[in-house]
Amino acid sequence: MLSIIVPCYNEEKNINIIYNTIVKIFHNKKISFEIVFVNDGSCDNTILELKKIVNETSSNVKIVNFSRNFGKEAAMYAGLKESSGDYVAIIDADMQQNPSLLLKMLGILEKNEDYDSVAAYQETRKEGKILGFFKKLFYKLINKISEVEFVNGASDFRIFRRRMVDAILSMQEYYRFSKGIFSWVGFNTYYMPYQVEERASGTSKWSFWKLFKYAIDGIVSFTTTPLRMATILGLIISFGSFIYFLIVIIQTFICGIDVPGYASLIGIILLLGGIQLLSLGIIGEYLARTYIENKKRPIYIAKEVISSKKK
Ligand code: UDP
Ligand code: MG
Repeated sequence: MLSIIVPCYNEEKNINIIYNTIVKIFHNKKISFEIVFVNDGSCDNTILELKKIVNETSSNVKIVNFSRNFGKEAAMYAGLKESSGDYVAIIDADMQQNPSLLLKMLGILEKNEDYDSVAAYQETRKEGKILGFFKKLFYKLINKISEVEFVNGASDFRIFRRRMVDAILSMQEYYRFSKGIFSWVGFNTYYMPYQVEERASGTSKWSFWKLFKYAIDGIVSFTTTPLRMATILGLIISFGSFIYFLIVIIQTFICGIDVPGYASLIGIILLLGGIQLLSLGIIGEYLARTYIENKKRPIYIAKEVISSKKK
């Protein structure tokens, strides 16, 4: 059986479209499936639409209804946890990822024992130049400093074999950066190119600021290199200062006492102050996450889990 996880946040107009599309595709092919909708604290009528579907459907449909918005990462985790198929897929609710591609992805897994997941990636990104530039920069940076591989353009549109899902679920961290987790657990992933389509309805929930915070999460979750960089920077500056100090002493002996320039003094104080604050900030980022992670708060809280009658 294939489980299809659909995280939904304010997608009232898209729910029916994606549900009907999935049912049509898999009914025709006679593939047994279940759909797990995760309502991530939507403030529109998403949950009403979902409940309507669960009451009327003749397929296997499950709703996990969050008590508030926990974010897409938490929604995906909840979906994986509530899924029971031998294969598990994750797809967005907005129809940007064509559900018929799931057949192709499933086919790849069924044909190749070696692969445990198929990840769809965008060959050409359909987005602004500036955002594209920053995304590229992020992937370059994180691949340089982290041991885990991040593929630029790879989305959360994926399908897994059960054993990989279990591995992902065994990672209980609160700050979930799925692209990193999917790659950290290992297994063989087949990267399949795909074309992103237009959103059926509504708008994207990702602002630039949200993406920026997400990028920091990714870096802090999967590498401690920034901490090491602070150490190395400190070493270099200390060594440089020591040499400079020696030069000043020798100069004093040879040329007598000289009053150094005010501008260079201020410059150095400001520069070092900046570097110190930056290093402190980097430590703070890690410390804050350690603090939150230590509280062992649940990744999500579900108000209710509803399953359709048919079982
Ligand atoms: N989503 C979610 N919780 C959130 C934000 C988004 O479950 O806090 C879901 C959303 O409903 C959609 C998917 O994640 O199904 C992708 O979101 P979106 O389309 O906004 O992202 P984009 O396609 O722009 O990357
Ligand atoms: Mg989208």
